[in-house]
Amino acid sequence: MRDGEQTPGVALTLEKKLLIARALDEMRVSVIEAGSAITSSGERESIKAVANAGLDAEICSYCRIVKTDVDRALDCDVDSIHLVAPVSDLHIRTKIKKDRDTVRYIAAEVTEYAKDHGLIVELSGEDATRADPDFLKAIYSDGIDAGADRLCFCDTVGLLVPEKTTEIFRDLTSSLKAPISIHCHNDFGLATANTVTALAAGAKQAHVTINGLGERAGNASLEEVVMCLEWLYKYDTGIRHEQIYRTSRLVSRLTGIPVSSNKALVGGNVFTHEAGIHVHGLLADKETYEPMSPEYIGRLRQIVLGKHAGRSSITLALKEMGLEADEAQTEEIFNRVKQMGDQGKHITDSDLQTIALTVLAIHKEPLVKLEEFTIVSGNRVTPTASIKLNVKDKEIVQAGIGNGPVDAVINAIRGAVSSCAEDVVLEEYHVDAVTGGTDALVEVRVKLSKDGKSITASGARTDIIMASVEAVMNGLNRLIWEE
Ligand code: MN
Repeated sequence: MRDGEQTPGVALTLEKKLLIARALDEMRVSVIEAGSAITSSGERESIKAVANAGLDAEICSYCRIVKTDVDRALDCDVDSIHLVAPVSDLHIRTKIKKDRDTVRYIAAEVTEYAKDHGLIVELSGEDATRADPDFLKAIYSDGIDAGADRLCFCDTVGLLVPEKTTEIFRDLTSSLKAPISIHCHNDFGLATANTVTALAAGAKQAHVTINGLGERAGNASLEEVVMCLEWLYKYDTGIRHEQIYRTSRLVSRLTGIPVSSNKALVGGNVFTHEAGIHVHGLLADKETYEPMSPEYIGRLRQIVLGKHAGRSSITLALKEMGLEADEAQTEEIFNRVKQMGDQGKHITDSDLQTIALTVLAIHKEPLVKLEEFTIVSGNRVTPTASIKLNVKDKEIVQAGIGNGPVDAVINAIRGAVSSCAEDVVLEEYHVDAVTGGTDALVEVRVKLSKDGKSITASGARTDIIMASVEAVMNGLNRLIWEE
């Protein structure tokens, strides 16, 4: 919650921090770095609230090697501090404008100060990857002498590679008498690999963020590191992995940072299969195209139809829904699915069901057919619709106005069919975007009545007006049929 919050554009309020902290605690995360106490009074209020929320996790504040930082952390009632000392010459000279010996001395001094005030101290070497290894070990061992409980190796700008990680961690863990953490950044996409490698070479703790949030390319992500260990290395992390997905969603929602659809484990498409060859494989055995069961991280498998869908997968999907379609109907459903697929949309089960039900209703040889319609709408015109219908093989042209384009076109339809279906009343009108986004499939459900008899009907299109027209036409046809 500290490095993750350093994602550009992310600032968490107290309420949001508490929600995330509770989710992390429920998931059994051992240490929660709740923020950096020196930042602001608002940040201190948030950290304090997290520290006093009665969580099982150790609550930690980030601190620079400055006593005031430690004082502010103490104000927040935290259990521990992540005490960060710059260790590369680049950081020492340009960032804090000091020299190696001074940094080494201050780091030990502040560690001792924090220990004297009852804090657990994790002494971190910032930009350790680019530091002189001997100096790094010197600052760590002085820290241990000053009472540091843990150490941390920060690959601050993501320059580690797995081979080097192994070398470094074998050396550090064999020569230093305190547990060492690994803190990786994902600038070259190696954060998870380096983190897992460090753990295999003796690191005792890993710094991670949900969804890999963090500055630039982000930090090592909790979900990837945990699932690599759990699934690939068969190591029990103690993390309640079935809560991973919902925590990922929570953090995405609260930070406003979307998770890319192909993000490992938590991306939108990771357990989604587009009907076609893969689905046939999946139906035979789920393992054919799935590395792990989605339920393990609290997800569900989703099969969608898109532009790769075949007629057979549509027939199969319809059968699973308990729907039977003849050849012509299947063809029409197939065409609509393909059309949506070509527009880049995935078609979910409910989309397919909506399409299928609509098509199945339409194919009852309608008495009233739509030939064409035109709508004019805008902020300075009265919404006006003109419509051409084929009613019992007779062409009828009608215009209508309304308080909006949908109202106008429905009025035009009512006018056009008044000869065969008088006094039709639109009693209810509902719109649902079945899938998200402005290019979503829209489902319109209507309730029409005539002479006290009412029926419901629906239409599904990506165009809201088309969907409305379709719903009303379906309803009208059913009313006329029943009459
Ligand atoms: Mn970092």
